[in-house]
Amino acid sequence: MTDRQNSRSHLFYQTDHPRPVLDRAEGIYMWDVDGNRFIDGSSGAMVCNIGHSNPHVLEAMRRQMERSTFGYRLHFVTEASEALAAKTVDLAWPGMDRVFFVSGGSEAVESALKLARQYAVASGQDGRWKVISRWPSYHGCTLGALAISGYDVLTDPFRPMMQAMPKVPAPRAWLDGLDPADPATGRHYAEQLDTKIREEGADSVLAFILEPVGGASTGALVPPAGYMEAVREVCDRHGVLLIHDEVMSGGGRTGRFFGGQNWTAAPDILAISKGFGAGYVPLGAMVARGDIVDRVIAKGGFLHGFTYAGNPLACATGLAVIEEIERQGMMANAVSTGALLKAGLARLMERFAFIGDVRGMGLLLAFELVADRRTKEPLPAAFRAFDRLTEAAYQRGLIIYPRRSRGGYAGDHLIVAPPMITTPAQVEEILGLLGDALAAFATELDEAGIRCT
Ligand code: PLP
Repeated sequence: MTDRQNSRSHLFYQTDHPRPVLDRAEGIYMWDVDGNRFIDGSSGAMVCNIGHSNPHVLEAMRRQMERSTFGYRLHFVTEASEALAAKTVDLAWPGMDRVFFVSGGSEAVESALKLARQYAVASGQDGRWKVISRWPSYHGCTLGALAISGYDVLTDPFRPMMQAMPKVPAPRAWLDGLDPADPATGRHYAEQLDTKIREEGADSVLAFILEPVGGASTGALVPPAGYMEAVREVCDRHGVLLIHDEVMSGGGRTGRFFGGQNWTAAPDILAISKGFGAGYVPLGAMVARGDIVDRVIAKGGFLHGFTYAGNPLACATGLAVIEEIERQGMMANAVSTGALLKAGLARLMERFAFIGDVRGMGLLLAFELVADRRTKEPLPAAFRAFDRLTEAAYQRGLIIYPRRSRGGYAGDHLIVAPPMITTPAQVEEILGLLGDALAAFATELDEAGIRCT
């Protein structure tokens, strides 16, 4: 315990759970002020995709800081914001050629919702306002983004303050006992969207939002075959906009800069953050089809904006992050190293009966815990397995990212998503520490009299 942990801190976040004081970080490693080393096995919250303290990015930040750190967007454009917008458009789908900068994921999602709504109004479709999303899902903590999130423990207290939005099931083929490789499975979930749109009245539905590869709420859920294409067709059939929330899946860790690019169907609008600034600066963006933006601008402009949007320091940093991803071939590394890590997680699943599923893509991977592999019954919720296992790993110097799998109150999964610079030797290091943590967790289960089959 450091002095700071013993004394009461003035800081607070979700809880008062004490954490060590961070000293420095480099590559995939972080050190606290007492010299303890941690492997950043989740890149923070799937943020620091390129690893910590990348010298090229730090140098670009220094260069930009010496020129200017802030220019209010209504007073100036900057070379940095223009260059990052152009680069982002290059990386996105054809036709998605307008970029609106923000400082985080919730802001990016809010921006997407509001642009979609203004587009409907500008198109004489004022009746369209409902945004359908999936359950479970997570799209952000602001009230608009929370209303479309499907994670009950976070949304329940705020329900009276939010506009309820319709939900459809996330395509959790494994949990539902369906074959993820069968295109009929993808169509099955897309039909549920079609049914929901009809029930709500297509004229009232504005958009459908999804995470191309699931994030915290589903634990790296990869859509079943045919799903992404079928969802696009359903949206087109009903004149509903399709929004990809790439806040976590964007930035390269699935092997493509935007996770949705692992499939052919393009969105109309997307939101990105986290890996976009890679933790060096708060940065995010909404990217939209040019004709959507043109119509909104022609009807008086987009009635939305955040003070720090497009500031030159954040944009110069974002550009340097993308340059490093490309220069070091990090997306290819995410695929090859991700395959090694996933194979290692599968081996751990053979060793520990309580691992029910290993899933994900590239270096966005997760495993889910169950009491019974056949029925997929979760571990007792009160046991808080997600917390316990995270803590067991943390005590051994490995950071992984825990969440509830079954919509907020039950189920446990852990995301393993180290930076895209992780080497095969470091994968072994991660797997070794994780194996030790799982063995300790197995003892805790035994001591609590919980038997897993
Ligand atoms: N959307 C997704 C898919 C996310 O994973 C998150 C954060 O975890 C958000 C939106 C919200 O991003 P932020 O926490 O930067 O506001």
